[in-house]
Amino acid sequence: MDDCLFCKIAAGELPATVVERTEDVIAIRDVNPQAPSHVLVMPVAHHATIADLLDKDVALATRVMETASALGRRAGAANGFRLVVNTGSDGGQTVDHVHVHVLAGRHMSWPPG
Ligand code: AMP
Ligand code: ZN
Repeated sequence: MDDCLFCKIAAGELPATVVERTEDVIAIRDVNPQAPSHVLVMPVAHHATIADLLDKDVALATRVMETASALGRRAGAANGFRLVVNTGSDGGQTVDHVHVHVLAGRHMSWPPG
């Protein structure tokens, strides 16, 4: 995807603070953190939403979630963490390259706004 922000970050064409990277999964710090630790975990390959990714490649979706969970455990320790996957416009997704928000380091309320 030529004009996709996260494809460009994954390709190293735009800067980001990379927390973890494998051949097909990348984790970066969110530029506008909503918690003391706020990381975005995504596939390197472009898939617009979690629903699209699950349609195309369940194994890759699993690797993304495993990475997100491991980073959440590391950041949240005994107090836990939150994984969020905003999906589509009503879901609050603003970057159309699937990503899992990993939020940790503070207590989070429910429901979201
Ligand atoms: P969403 O609204 O779920 O699509 O989340 C998009 C997230 O990407 C937001 O939390 C933004 O703060 C974050 N974001 C936008 N641009 C960048 C960037 N260049 N590097 C890191 N995070 C970004
Ligand atoms: Zn993309």
